Amino acid sequence: MAEERTFEGQVFCGDDLDLRPARVVIQEGRITAVEELRRAPLRWICPAFFNAHTHLGDTVAMDLPLTGDLVALVTPPHGLKHRILSTTPRQELVAGMKSALTYMAEAGTAGCADFREGGAAGVAMLREAAAGLACQPVIFGREGGEQVAEGLGISSIRDVDDAEARVSAAKRAGKWIAFHAGERDAHDVDNALSFDPDLLIHCTHATDRQLQECADRGIPIALCPRSNWTLGVTKSPSHPPVDKMRALGCSLLLGTDNVMFVPPDLFGEMSFLSTVYGVPPREVLHAAIAGGNHFTRTSVIAPGSPARFFCVKSGDSFLRFTRDPWMTFIKRVNRSDIEENVLSYGR
Ligand SMILES: [Zn+2]
Repeated sequence: MAEERTFEGQVFCGDDLDLRPARVVIQEGRITAVEELRRAPLRWICPAFFNAHTHLGDTVAMDLPLTGDLVALVTPPHGLKHRILSTTPRQELVAGMKSALTYMAEAGTAGCADFREGGAAGVAMLREAAAGLACQPVIFGREGGEQVAEGLGISSIRDVDDAEARVSAAKRAGKWIAFHAGERDAHDVDNALSFDPDLLIHCTHATDRQLQECADRGIPIALCPRSNWTLGVTKSPSHPPVDKMRALGCSLLLGTDNVMFVPPDLFGEMSFLSTVYGVPPREVLHAAIAGGNHFTRTSVIAPGSPARFFCVKSGDSFLRFTRDPWMTFIKRVNRSDIEENVLSYGR
């Protein structure tokens, strides 16, 4: 029987992320108890992050100078990114994805929802890259890749001719369905909603009615704000309409989108969401974690859950001066503050 391990600190507990002094006990990759204490060390224990939208494949095009608009850069099949993916040797693509997943794990991220280009061969590359790592992707394939992945990821309904057939086949096979929608305008959102998706990405220009529908039908939205600003599809905190989404009760997740433009680091994304959109810190933290519950049911610190969390030592650091631990956590903590990363137990 595997040895029992304990972690004491200020624990972000349950779905509400209430902060309580507690001892987390784990054994064989599971949390067996969360015991409340009267006092605990100044160490934050946070559920692992889940990056709700990535394209790990384009790591190999990191920080390529931006020339042109969304279509010229990332729209299939002839955007610059797709030309790079098709001409890069397989081993280099795999090495790029592997290093991105390693970087994510080191930053407290135990999983991601990745849109994987290149059909079934593309999905196989990502599986090879992820083997044995602490950050595991939920893969959304395309061009046949969906048949060997966990889901189907549609770039935008306007870029795909046979969406209807692909979605119904994927649904019959029990796959997740996700769409990029509303990234440059609202015209592709209704069509995406008509397929009853499990996830919409962006909704940067979605209308109130479309957002209301997402809220009513419980369809989560993966926000990727740094990507939206980098690719020039927004120039103001009105897009994506995060305030409206919150007021309407939409379920919000956080993603970093293309690795070629934005580092897959949710600490940076949380800080940006807070600064630019003024989202309350507890909601920001929730958006960085909640995808894990949606796709893999792993990201809550509670008895019976898989042990997926990380510890940030604040007791003798600059961070101990905090007057609002949630705000300090999302604005000031970064990967180098993580003293213990419990992502790999139980794999
Ligand atoms: Zn994307």
